[in-house]
Amino acid sequence: MSFRVAVLPGDGIGPEVVAQGVEVLRQVAAMAEVGVELQWGVAGGRAIDEAGNPLPDPTLQLCRESDAILFGSVGGPKWDNLAPEIRPERGLLRLRQELGLFANIRPAKVFAALVDASPLKRELVEGLDIVTVRELTGDIYYGEPRGVTSIEGGERSVNTMVYTTAEIDRIVRLAFEIAQQRAHRVTSVDKANVLETSRLWRKVVEQVAQDFPHIAYEHMYVDNAAMQLVRAPKQFDVIVTGNLFGDILSDEAAMVTGSIGLAASASLGHRTALYEPVHGSAPDIAGQGVANPLATILSVAMLCKYTLKLDALAGRIEAAVEQVLAQGYRTRDIQSSGTTLVGTAEMGALVLQALG
Ligand code: NAD
Repeated sequence: MSFRVAVLPGDGIGPEVVAQGVEVLRQVAAMAEVGVELQWGVAGGRAIDEAGNPLPDPTLQLCRESDAILFGSVGGPKWDNLAPEIRPERGLLRLRQELGLFANIRPAKVFAALVDASPLKRELVEGLDIVTVRELTGDIYYGEPRGVTSIEGGERSVNTMVYTTAEIDRIVRLAFEIAQQRAHRVTSVDKANVLETSRLWRKVVEQVAQDFPHIAYEHMYVDNAAMQLVRAPKQFDVIVTGNLFGDILSDEAAMVTGSIGLAASASLGHRTALYEPVHGSAPDIAGQGVANPLATILSVAMLCKYTLKLDALAGRIEAAVEQVLAQGYRTRDIQSSGTTLVGTAEMGALVLQALG
């Protein structure tokens, strides 16, 4: 087996954390005797500086020809005043669109050693392990018509929430498949009491569920889901929802764990997949060697699971991270009294050591 992985470190702390992720990927690939060919590309602000475009054609081509993309983060104050269509973040949005990455998967897991980092009470989050499956290429973010027109006395703005049966079917099916590998529970989140789009969503969920008789599923209104995530988050296993609701709920779920430096994500398409930490380029700490690389390392674990299809390898990376945290090592963002402060490279090295 051999896989091509495009590495796009991006800006700010991106290159620092991606360097650690790459080392972990190299080590686990060697352990499993899987061929992984790494090729680097430029994206984001650096690409604007070098090529005048946040997603230059050679980078897009490289991604198209790869099985997976390991992405850092893009953006920073240097590019904040550029026109919206050429800003660094636009490169990432275009990449998602061009590659048809329709499913965003975000685990929200509370590691035993970090229970107290959560803003919620210990008993609410101990052992928490949720996955949010968010539809990423449809909904009100892309629906037409959209825009702002002038009317008498002011302006009128329109966005359109739109989903087709096929779009709902593929994301819901994926959520049920993921639940099969986990606790066999799916919560589908919508606003079916108000929105036609959500009523179609519900109908398709009912149809897909028939193909998964061993999965328990429920429907939940989005307002209730937002409350339940802070009231009793452990009731959830897999949450599946549309682009808009998923945008908000996946951030809420990440905050429940309390540590953005550990939040990993995968965006899956039909051919390739993109793996990236949830956090941004953190310009305030870039270049200092203090960034937490664990979100990127856990994104590499997701790459092992969803692209290499080596669940055991993903499990070993997660266990290595858990072990390093249990030994009391912390980067600055998650430091607490009685723990040992380490930098980005040292944290990466500790994970490599724990992997054995
Ligand atoms: P951010 O996530 O970069 O930073 C928020 C805070 O969290 C900062 O205090 C930062 O120091 C801290 N932080 C983030 N990641 C960390 C890590 N791994 N280790 C330690 N501390 C960490 O969000 P922001 O400040 O809103 O955005 C900064 C830039 O990143 C902006 O240009 C924004 O557009 C961009 N951004 C990019 C992505 C992406 O590439 N996917 C996502 C979000 C933001």
